[in-house]
Amino acid sequence: MSKSLLVTGGAGYVGSHVVLELVARGYEVVVFDNLQQGHRDAVVREAMLIEGDLADRDGLDRLFDQHRFDAVLHFAANSLVGESMRQPFLYLGDNVVNALNLIRATVEHKVGKFVLSSTANLFGTPERIPIDEEAAIDPGSPYGESKFIIERMLHWADQIHGLRSACLRYFNAAGADPNGRTGEDHAPETHLIPIVLQAALGQRPHVEIFGDDYPTPDGTCIRDYIHVLDLADAHIRALDLLETRSCRYNLGNGRGYSVREVVETARRVTGAEIPVRVGPRRAGDPAVLVAAADRIRTELGWKPKFAELRKIVETAWQWHSNNPTGFVRARSDQVEST
Ligand code: UDP
Repeated sequence: MSKSLLVTGGAGYVGSHVVLELVARGYEVVVFDNLQQGHRDAVVREAMLIEGDLADRDGLDRLFDQHRFDAVLHFAANSLVGESMRQPFLYLGDNVVNALNLIRATVEHKVGKFVLSSTANLFGTPERIPIDEEAAIDPGSPYGESKFIIERMLHWADQIHGLRSACLRYFNAAGADPNGRTGEDHAPETHLIPIVLQAALGQRPHVEIFGDDYPTPDGTCIRDYIHVLDLADAHIRALDLLETRSCRYNLGNGRGYSVREVVETARRVTGAEIPVRVGPRRAGDPAVLVAAADRIRTELGWKPKFAELRKIVETAWQWHSNNPTGFVRARSDQVEST
C-alpha cells in the first residue's frame, strides 16, 4: 500500500515542487494550505488539496481523524527575512504557534515522522564559510529564530514522544519545474531571481541591488542558490532515513554567486538588458551564505541535478516567460482560450 503524507503549505513555491516529486514516486499526498500565499493551481491533480489553517486546532484534529498519515512535511510559514525584521511577531508568533499546533497534532495522532522546511538564516552571520551542520546557531532574524524554535520543539518531541524529524536548512531555493507544472509566484515578489526575471520581461524598470558595500569581491551579497527539485529530492531521501533516525542537513550547492553575478547570468539566459540600480542594504542580510552540504551527499547519496546557476535561471525563465503574471494569469488564459 502506498504511503500517505500530509504536506502543509503544499500549494506554495517549495511545497508544490516537493508534491510533484512525491506523487511521481507513488506517495498519496494531502496538501493542507490556507491559500494566503499558495495557489490552488500549483497543486497537481494527483494530490488532494484541503483548504485550512494551522491556527485552527479543531480543524487540524479533524484532518488527522479523517486521514491516516505516515508522515508530515511542514512548509506552511511566513518566510521572508526582511518582513520578519519589520513584523517580528508574525514570525515569533504565528510561525511558532502554528508549528506547535501541528507538531502536537502529529504526536497526539501517533504519526511518527516529520520533515521541517528550515533555513540557512539559522546561522545569522556565520564565522566560517561554507556553513556545515556544526556551525554555531545564532539566527539572523525573527524568521530564522522562528525556525530554530521549531527545530527545538522537534528535538523535544523526539526525546519525549519518539517523533522522528528531519530539519532541512535550505539556502536559496530557486528555479522551477522544467515541465511547467508549477513555479514561483509570490505577491509581492521579494526574491532576487524572480525580480530579475520580471525586469527582463519589462514588468519592472530595473532591479535594485540591496547594497554594494559588503566585504565580497564585487561588494554585493553572495548566496548559494539551489534548485527546488533538488530540494524535493533531498526531502524524499530524508523521509526514507526517518525509518531509522532523526537528522538535520544543510542544503545548498556549495557554491555562491553575488547579486551582480545572478543579474549577469539572467542577462545571458534571457537576452534582455536588465537595468540595475544600487540601493541601501536590506536589514537582516548577511554578506555571504554558502552551504557545506557534504553530510547529505555522503549519508544519503544526494546529488543536485541543477547545480549550475545558469540551469536554475533557465528553468525559472521558462516559467516566468510562459506565465508572466503567475498562476492567476495562467487561469484567465485558459478561460479566454475556451
Ligand atoms: N536582493 C537584491 N535585490 C532584490 C532582492 C534581493 O539585491 O530586489 C539580494 C538580497 O539582498 C540578498 C540576495 O539578493 O542578498 C538574495 O535575496 P532573496 O530575497 O532572494 O533571498 P534571501 O537571501 O533573503 O533568502
